[in-house]
Amino acid sequence: MSSSRPNYYEILEVSNSATPEEIKSNYYRLAKLLHPDKGRGENGVGTADTAAPKADAAFQLIEEAYRILANMASRKLYDADEAACQKSFPIAAYISPNDMDSIEDPRGLSYPCRCGDVFFVGQDKLDSSNSKSPEMVVPCSSCSFAVVLRFNLPSEE
Ligand SMILES: [Zn+2]
Repeated sequence: MSSSRPNYYEILEVSNSATPEEIKSNYYRLAKLLHPDKGRGENGVGTADTAAPKADAAFQLIEEAYRILANMASRKLYDADEAACQKSFPIAAYISPNDMDSIEDPRGLSYPCRCGDVFFVGQDKLDSSNSKSPEMVVPCSSCSFAVVLRFNLPSEE
């Protein structure tokens, strides 16, 4: 599992607690600097052919970073993925709340871990994050595995 995904915050030169306004203004600033059409007229003829492909790639990366970070839902997903990577929990599974049950502990939902223990998330935590975040990383209390609980998976009507 390689996590060679670019850091979108670094690309946009913002901190990961940046406000949507900061993200937006940095995006516009960088996009202006790196726009593929930029520099063709200003830097004279000849430079465009060699410089353009590089600028293109950088510009696309900025576009991609902005597309992810400008949207609250995709930004949260990205943050959750990054957090999971940084803590280096091996993700055992992607599950929805419907895959879990409250047999182990009625105060929340459990999902069996391969180590014999369970991934457990309390009902209070579920209530508070359900509306805020589309997914949650739930680590096993006994081993280093974690499951990613996704709330936005289609559920039964
Ligand atoms: Zn475990």
